[in-house]
Amino acid sequence: MLTTGRLFYKQYTKMNFKKTILPTLRYQLAQLTKVPTALTINLVDRCSLKCQMCDIWQNKGKDMPLADWHKALTQPLLRKITYIGLTGGEPLLYKELPQFATMVCGLYNLETLHLNTSGIYPDRLKKYLEIISNIHGPRFVVAVSLDGIESHNRIRGVEVYDKALISLDMIRAYDIEATINCVVTDQKPNELDRLVDLAETFNLPLNITPAYSRTDLNHDKEFVLAEETAKWVEDYLYKQQAKTKALPIGYILQMRTGKRQLPCAFLDGAAVSLDANGELYVCQNEFGTEHTASLAERRKKLKQTKCETCLSTCFNSLAMRGHIIKPLEI
Ligand code: SF4
Ligand code: SF4
Repeated sequence: MLTTGRLFYKQYTKMNFKKTILPTLRYQLAQLTKVPTALTINLVDRCSLKCQMCDIWQNKGKDMPLADWHKALTQPLLRKITYIGLTGGEPLLYKELPQFATMVCGLYNLETLHLNTSGIYPDRLKKYLEIISNIHGPRFVVAVSLDGIESHNRIRGVEVYDKALISLDMIRAYDIEATINCVVTDQKPNELDRLVDLAETFNLPLNITPAYSRTDLNHDKEFVLAEETAKWVEDYLYKQQAKTKALPIGYILQMRTGKRQLPCAFLDGAAVSLDANGELYVCQNEFGTEHTASLAERRKKLKQTKCETCLSTCFNSLAMRGHIIKPLEI
């Protein structure tokens, strides 16, 4: 029987105290105490792109001042945060992003600060990279979206391809980890193959996410991949699995069965989300809902309503640590 433990066998067979045992114990403690260690922050509720798979660009959210962010981030529940994922909208639209990054690095004992960007603002990205490359301690990761070669501008709704390449090229000048993130909708296998080659020329990992697994972006469209594209995605994820022996196969299971197979760090209480107003939510899928109940009650409600079909893979690799022998259905 396939279980989460077998899926992650590399992590559990190479027992390394710092890399496997300690983070596992830490996750299980967060799960038990419901004091989260991971946080996603939707820094702004606006975007300059007009992606097919997302409606955030229709929002005209007002950016929150740095002082208000300080207040939101110093609430007692967030005292143990070690991993932050910065997203949006487009986080580079936040004018004081470098100051924001400096602030969070000072507030927490941060291990990772992950930034998701479309790469549309290379100049702003440069300022951000200059600041973070002088901060010691956390691991910084920048993920740039690139969905294809010819298709990228069409899928993203604006001319962003060239700027994304400029951004990717620029990151190479810094000692910062980067990834290329591709959301698959209607791209043809041939183009996806060329995207793999492009990622290789940048010497960067290419993360593939099927569009219909994204429930966090306010869209109400159903994406059904063409058979040949779905096959390409599955083959690619299996190849990645062979290389990393880690997460990708989790997507395949969710794609095949159409229901949640993997555990969820948000549901465990080991991760939480802040929206662009600094409001605390169980996860991004709860944004905009009225909430007077406690987080525990809201988690319970989500579990009964959204979680079973939620295909979000956010922090899945963390959540594996709390569910070592969960059986998986193929
Ligand atoms: S998917 Fe990301 S880049 Fe595209 S509109 Fe939504 S927030 Fe913006
Ligand atoms: S809806 Fe449920 S499964 Fe999906 S991210 Fe939120 S808590 Fe996790």
